[in-house]
Amino acid sequence: MQAIVGYHRPESLAAALSLLNRKSPRSVVLAGGTSLNASESSQPIEMIDLQAIGFDQIRSGSAVVEIGAMVRLSDLAAHQAIPELLRELTTREGPNTLRNAATIGGTIATGHPDSELVAGCLVYQGRVTLATAGGATQSVELNELLADRSKLEGSIIIGLEIESGGTAAAERTGRTPSDLSIVAAVGRRTVAGVRLALTGTASTPILVEPDAIADLEPPGDFRGSSAYRRHLAQTLTRRVTEQLGEPS
Ligand SMILES: Cc1cc2nc3c(=O)[nH]c(=O)nc-3n(C[C@H](O)[C@H](O)[C@H](O)COP(=O)(O)OP(=O)(O)OC[C@H]3O[C@@H](n4cnc5c(N)ncnc54)[C@H](O)[C@@H]3O)c2cc1C
Repeated sequence: MQAIVGYHRPESLAAALSLLNRKSPRSVVLAGGTSLNASESSQPIEMIDLQAIGFDQIRSGSAVVEIGAMVRLSDLAAHQAIPELLRELTTREGPNTLRNAATIGGTIATGHPDSELVAGCLVYQGRVTLATAGGATQSVELNELLADRSKLEGSIIIGLEIESGGTAAAERTGRTPSDLSIVAAVGRRTVAGVRLALTGTASTPILVEPDAIADLEPPGDFRGSSAYRRHLAQTLTRRVTEQLGEPS
Protein backbone atom coordinates (compact mmCIF):
# COMPACT_ATOMS: atom_id res chain seq x y z
CA MET A 1 0.00 0.00 0.00
CA GLN A 2 1.26 3.43 -0.96
CA ALA A 3 2.41 5.50 2.06
CA ILE A 4 0.10 8.54 1.75
CA VAL A 5 1.02 11.31 4.19
CA GLY A 6 -1.14 14.10 2.81
CA TYR A 7 -4.20 14.64 0.60
CA HIS A 8 -5.21 17.76 -1.33
CA ARG A 9 -8.23 18.41 -3.51
CA PRO A 10 -7.48 21.65 -5.37
CA GLU A 11 -10.32 23.31 -7.27
CA SER A 12 -8.24 24.81 -10.07
CA LEU A 13 -5.49 23.66 -12.39
CA ALA A 14 -3.24 26.50 -11.16
CA ALA A 15 -3.62 25.35 -7.54
CA ALA A 16 -2.90 21.73 -8.54
CA LEU A 17 0.26 22.76 -10.42
CA SER A 18 1.48 24.85 -7.53
CA LEU A 19 1.00 21.95 -5.06
CA LEU A 20 2.69 19.53 -7.45
CA ASN A 21 5.72 21.75 -7.91
CA ARG A 22 6.55 22.36 -4.24
CA LYS A 23 10.14 21.39 -3.42
CA SER A 24 8.88 19.00 -0.75
CA PRO A 25 7.15 16.76 0.22
CA ARG A 26 7.13 14.46 -2.79
CA SER A 27 3.73 14.95 -4.45
CA VAL A 28 1.88 13.04 -7.16
CA VAL A 29 -1.39 13.68 -8.91
CA LEU A 30 -4.26 11.31 -8.27
CA ALA A 31 -6.82 10.64 -11.01
CA GLY A 32 -8.85 7.40 -10.80
CA GLY A 33 -6.39 5.91 -8.31
CA THR A 34 -6.56 2.41 -9.82
CA SER A 35 -2.82 2.23 -10.36
CA LEU A 36 -1.64 4.66 -7.70
CA ASN A 37 -3.62 3.18 -4.81
CA ALA A 38 -2.45 -0.32 -5.76
CA SER A 39 1.20 0.73 -5.59
CA GLU A 40 3.29 -0.99 -2.93
CA SER A 41 5.87 1.77 -2.75
CA SER A 42 6.66 2.71 0.85
CA GLN A 43 8.00 6.14 -0.12
CA PRO A 44 5.85 8.80 1.62
CA ILE A 45 3.87 10.94 -0.82
CA GLU A 46 1.22 13.62 -0.76
CA MET A 47 -1.63 13.11 -3.21
CA ILE A 48 -3.14 15.90 -5.29
CA ASP A 49 -6.59 14.71 -6.28
CA LEU A 50 -7.60 16.10 -9.70
CA GLN A 51 -11.31 15.30 -9.54
CA ALA A 52 -12.42 18.88 -8.77
CA ILE A 53 -10.49 20.60 -11.57
CA GLY A 54 -12.69 19.56 -14.53
CA PHE A 55 -11.21 18.34 -17.83
CA ASP A 56 -13.86 15.62 -17.91
CA GLN A 57 -15.59 16.33 -21.24
CA ILE A 58 -15.37 14.84 -24.74
CA ARG A 59 -15.73 17.30 -27.65
CA SER A 60 -15.82 16.30 -31.30
CA GLY A 61 -14.86 18.47 -34.26
CA SER A 62 -14.95 17.62 -37.95
CA ALA A 63 -11.79 15.53 -37.98
CA VAL A 64 -10.56 15.43 -34.36
CA VAL A 65 -11.93 14.49 -30.96
CA GLU A 66 -10.75 16.24 -27.78
CA ILE A 67 -10.87 14.10 -24.67
CA GLY A 68 -10.39 15.67 -21.24
CA ALA A 69 -7.77 13.93 -19.11
CA MET A 70 -10.31 13.16 -16.36
CA VAL A 71 -12.75 11.34 -18.68
CA ARG A 72 -13.39 7.89 -17.17
CA LEU A 73 -12.70 4.89 -19.36
CA SER A 74 -16.31 3.71 -19.01
CA ASP A 75 -17.49 7.06 -20.47
CA LEU A 76 -14.91 6.83 -23.25
CA ALA A 77 -16.15 3.34 -24.17
CA ALA A 78 -19.75 4.61 -24.40
CA HIS A 79 -19.21 7.89 -26.32
CA GLN A 80 -20.37 7.86 -29.94
CA ALA A 81 -17.75 10.45 -31.02
CA ILE A 82 -14.96 7.99 -30.19
CA PRO A 83 -13.98 5.77 -33.14
CA GLU A 84 -15.51 2.31 -32.81
CA LEU A 85 -12.20 0.46 -32.57
CA LEU A 86 -10.97 2.73 -29.76
CA ARG A 87 -14.20 2.11 -27.86
CA GLU A 88 -13.65 -1.62 -28.20
CA LEU A 89 -10.01 -1.31 -27.07
CA THR A 90 -11.16 0.71 -24.04
CA THR A 91 -13.28 -2.22 -22.89
CA ARG A 92 -10.09 -4.30 -22.78
CA GLU A 93 -8.58 -2.10 -20.02
CA GLY A 94 -9.18 -4.15 -16.89
CA PRO A 95 -12.63 -5.06 -15.48
CA ASN A 96 -15.57 -2.62 -15.63
CA THR A 97 -15.09 -1.74 -11.94
CA LEU A 98 -11.64 -0.42 -12.88
CA ARG A 99 -12.94 1.39 -15.98
CA ASN A 100 -15.55 3.22 -13.88
CA ALA A 101 -12.72 4.85 -11.91
CA ALA A 102 -9.69 4.93 -14.25
CA THR A 103 -9.20 8.01 -16.46
CA ILE A 104 -7.67 8.48 -19.89
CA GLY A 105 -5.05 10.84 -18.35
CA GLY A 106 -3.99 8.21 -15.83
CA THR A 107 -3.89 5.55 -18.53
CA ILE A 108 -1.59 7.67 -20.70
CA ALA A 109 0.62 8.64 -17.75
CA THR A 110 0.93 4.97 -16.75
CA GLY A 111 1.70 3.93 -20.34
CA HIS A 112 1.28 0.27 -19.40
CA PRO A 113 3.14 -1.90 -21.94
CA ASP A 114 0.04 -4.07 -22.45
CA SER A 115 -2.44 -1.22 -22.94
CA GLU A 116 -4.33 -1.75 -26.19
CA LEU A 117 -6.08 1.57 -25.60
CA VAL A 118 -2.76 3.44 -25.57
CA ALA A 119 -1.72 1.57 -28.74
CA GLY A 120 -5.03 2.63 -30.29
CA CYS A 121 -4.44 6.26 -29.33
CA LEU A 122 -1.02 6.04 -31.02
CA VAL A 123 -2.52 4.99 -34.36
CA TYR A 124 -5.20 7.68 -34.04
CA GLN A 125 -2.33 10.19 -33.99
CA GLY A 126 -2.76 11.05 -30.29
CA ARG A 127 -1.50 14.44 -29.12
CA VAL A 128 -1.36 15.13 -25.41
CA THR A 129 -1.91 18.57 -23.88
CA LEU A 130 0.25 19.17 -20.82
CA ALA A 131 -0.09 21.99 -18.32
CA THR A 132 3.48 22.71 -17.26
CA ALA A 133 4.94 24.02 -13.99
CA GLY A 134 4.68 27.70 -14.96
CA GLY A 135 1.06 27.32 -16.06
CA ALA A 136 1.74 27.29 -19.81
CA THR A 137 0.27 24.53 -21.97
CA GLN A 138 2.27 22.38 -24.32
CA SER A 139 1.09 19.94 -26.99
CA VAL A 140 3.19 16.79 -27.31
CA GLU A 141 2.83 13.79 -29.63
CA LEU A 142 1.74 10.80 -27.56
CA ASN A 143 4.60 8.67 -28.89
CA GLU A 144 7.12 11.34 -27.81
CA LEU A 145 5.62 11.46 -24.32
CA LEU A 146 5.74 7.68 -23.98
CA ALA A 147 9.38 7.69 -25.08
CA ASP A 148 10.38 10.48 -22.70
CA ARG A 149 8.59 10.40 -19.34
CA SER A 150 10.65 13.33 -18.07
CA LYS A 151 8.16 15.55 -19.94
CA LEU A 152 5.61 14.62 -17.25
CA GLU A 153 7.70 15.85 -14.32
CA GLY A 154 5.93 18.76 -12.65
CA SER A 155 3.27 18.70 -15.39
CA ILE A 156 -0.35 17.61 -15.53
CA ILE A 157 -1.98 16.00 -18.55
CA ILE A 158 -5.16 17.97 -19.25
CA GLY A 159 -6.30 16.38 -22.49
CA LEU A 160 -5.77 14.09 -25.44
CA GLU A 161 -6.63 14.93 -29.02
CA ILE A 162 -7.13 12.14 -31.55
CA GLU A 163 -8.08 12.04 -35.20
CA SER A 164 -11.37 10.36 -35.98
CA GLY A 165 -11.26 9.10 -39.58
CA GLY A 166 -9.71 6.16 -41.36
CA THR A 167 -10.10 2.40 -41.28
CA ALA A 168 -8.78 0.56 -38.25
CA ALA A 169 -8.23 -3.02 -37.07
CA ALA A 170 -6.67 -4.85 -34.12
CA GLU A 171 -5.47 -8.39 -33.47
CA ARG A 172 -4.23 -9.92 -30.21
CA THR A 173 -3.02 -13.10 -28.55
CA GLY A 174 -3.56 -13.73 -24.85
CA ARG A 175 -3.51 -16.75 -22.56
CA THR A 176 -7.34 -16.60 -22.54
CA PRO A 177 -9.70 -14.33 -24.51
CA SER A 178 -10.35 -12.16 -21.42
CA ASP A 179 -6.76 -11.97 -20.17
CA LEU A 180 -4.42 -9.07 -20.94
CA SER A 181 -2.87 -9.64 -24.37
CA ILE A 182 0.64 -11.01 -24.53
CA VAL A 183 1.06 -9.00 -27.73
CA ALA A 184 -1.52 -6.94 -29.63
CA ALA A 185 -1.21 -5.12 -32.96
CA VAL A 186 -3.39 -2.13 -33.85
CA GLY A 187 -3.40 -0.47 -37.26
CA ARG A 188 -5.14 2.39 -39.02
CA ARG A 189 -5.19 3.36 -42.67
CA THR A 190 -5.84 6.94 -43.81
CA VAL A 191 -5.01 8.80 -47.02
CA ALA A 192 -1.65 9.56 -45.39
CA GLY A 193 -0.79 5.84 -45.14
CA VAL A 194 -0.81 3.14 -42.46
CA ARG A 195 0.12 3.60 -38.80
CA LEU A 196 0.83 0.48 -36.74
CA ALA A 197 1.29 0.11 -33.00
CA LEU A 198 2.18 -2.85 -30.79
CA THR A 199 1.71 -3.75 -27.15
CA GLY A 200 3.80 -6.25 -25.23
CA THR A 201 7.04 -5.59 -27.08
CA ALA A 202 8.65 -2.69 -25.15
CA SER A 203 8.29 -0.78 -21.90
CA THR A 204 5.27 1.08 -23.34
CA PRO A 205 3.05 0.58 -26.41
CA ILE A 206 5.03 1.69 -29.48
CA LEU A 207 4.53 2.82 -33.06
CA VAL A 208 6.36 0.51 -35.50
CA GLU A 209 7.23 0.10 -39.13
CA PRO A 210 6.52 -3.51 -40.21
CA ASP A 211 10.09 -3.93 -41.53
CA ALA A 212 11.52 -3.00 -38.11
CA ILE A 213 9.68 -5.68 -36.11
CA ALA A 214 12.40 -8.29 -36.77
CA ASP A 215 14.86 -6.03 -34.90
CA LEU A 216 12.68 -5.58 -31.78
CA GLU A 217 13.94 -7.10 -28.55
CA PRO A 218 10.80 -7.40 -26.41
CA PRO A 219 11.25 -8.02 -22.69
CA GLY A 220 10.15 -11.63 -22.04
CA ASP A 221 8.18 -12.85 -19.02
CA PHE A 222 6.23 -15.90 -17.82
CA ARG A 223 3.58 -15.23 -20.48
CA GLY A 224 5.94 -15.21 -23.43
CA SER A 225 9.65 -15.11 -24.23
CA SER A 226 11.23 -12.32 -26.21
CA ALA A 227 11.40 -14.48 -29.37
CA TYR A 228 7.76 -15.59 -29.01
CA ARG A 229 6.61 -11.98 -28.63
CA ARG A 230 8.57 -10.94 -31.72
CA HIS A 231 6.97 -13.80 -33.66
CA LEU A 232 3.50 -12.75 -32.44
CA ALA A 233 4.21 -9.14 -33.39
CA GLN A 234 5.03 -10.16 -36.97
CA THR A 235 2.03 -12.49 -37.32
CA LEU A 236 -0.50 -10.09 -35.76
CA THR A 237 0.84 -7.15 -37.79
CA ARG A 238 0.42 -9.15 -41.00
CA ARG A 239 -3.19 -9.98 -40.06
CA VAL A 240 -3.97 -6.34 -39.24
CA THR A 241 -2.38 -5.14 -42.48
CA GLU A 242 -4.46 -7.66 -44.46
CA GLN A 243 -7.63 -6.38 -42.79
CA LEU A 244 -6.75 -2.78 -43.58
CA GLY A 245 -6.45 -3.72 -47.26
CA GLU A 246 -5.07 -1.59 -50.05
CA PRO A 247 -5.68 2.17 -50.38
CA SER A 248 -8.93 2.87 -52.24
C1 LIG B 1 -6.73 -4.88 -11.27
C2 LIG B 1 -6.02 -3.92 -12.20
C3 LIG B 1 -6.08 -4.15 -13.57
C4 LIG B 1 -5.43 -3.29 -14.46
N1 LIG B 1 -5.53 -3.55 -15.76
C5 LIG B 1 -4.96 -2.71 -16.63
C6 LIG B 1 -5.09 -2.94 -18.03
O1 LIG B 1 -5.75 -3.87 -18.47
N2 LIG B 1 -4.44 -2.10 -18.89
C7 LIG B 1 -3.73 -1.03 -18.40
O2 LIG B 1 -3.19 -0.27 -19.21
N3 LIG B 1 -3.60 -0.76 -17.10
C8 LIG B 1 -4.19 -1.58 -16.20
N4 LIG B 1 -4.07 -1.32 -14.89
C9 LIG B 1 -3.26 -0.15 -14.45
C10 LIG B 1 -4.08 1.15 -14.22
O3 LIG B 1 -5.28 0.85 -13.51
C11 LIG B 1 -4.46 1.86 -15.50
O4 LIG B 1 -3.31 2.23 -16.20
C12 LIG B 1 -5.37 3.07 -15.24
O5 LIG B 1 -5.96 3.38 -16.45
C13 LIG B 1 -4.72 4.26 -14.56
O6 LIG B 1 -5.65 5.36 -14.56
P1 LIG B 1 -6.08 6.12 -13.23
O7 LIG B 1 -6.93 7.27 -13.65
O8 LIG B 1 -6.69 5.19 -12.24
O9 LIG B 1 -4.66 6.65 -12.71
P2 LIG B 1 -4.07 6.80 -11.23
O10 LIG B 1 -3.95 5.46 -10.56
O11 LIG B 1 -4.79 7.86 -10.48
O12 LIG B 1 -2.62 7.35 -11.60
C14 LIG B 1 -1.69 6.54 -12.29
C15 LIG B 1 -0.41 7.35 -12.57
O13 LIG B 1 -0.69 8.37 -13.50
C16 LIG B 1 -0.41 9.65 -12.95
N5 LIG B 1 -1.47 10.54 -13.46
C17 LIG B 1 -2.80 10.31 -13.39
N6 LIG B 1 -3.47 11.28 -14.01
C18 LIG B 1 -2.54 12.17 -14.45
C19 LIG B 1 -2.61 13.39 -15.17
N7 LIG B 1 -3.77 13.91 -15.57
N8 LIG B 1 -1.45 14.03 -15.46
C20 LIG B 1 -0.25 13.51 -15.08
N9 LIG B 1 -0.11 12.34 -14.42
C21 LIG B 1 -1.25 11.68 -14.11
C22 LIG B 1 -0.44 9.47 -11.43
O14 LIG B 1 0.34 10.42 -10.74
C23 LIG B 1 0.13 8.07 -11.33
O15 LIG B 1 1.54 8.10 -11.43
C24 LIG B 1 -4.69 -2.16 -13.96
C25 LIG B 1 -4.64 -1.93 -12.59
C26 LIG B 1 -5.30 -2.78 -11.72
C27 LIG B 1 -5.22 -2.50 -10.22
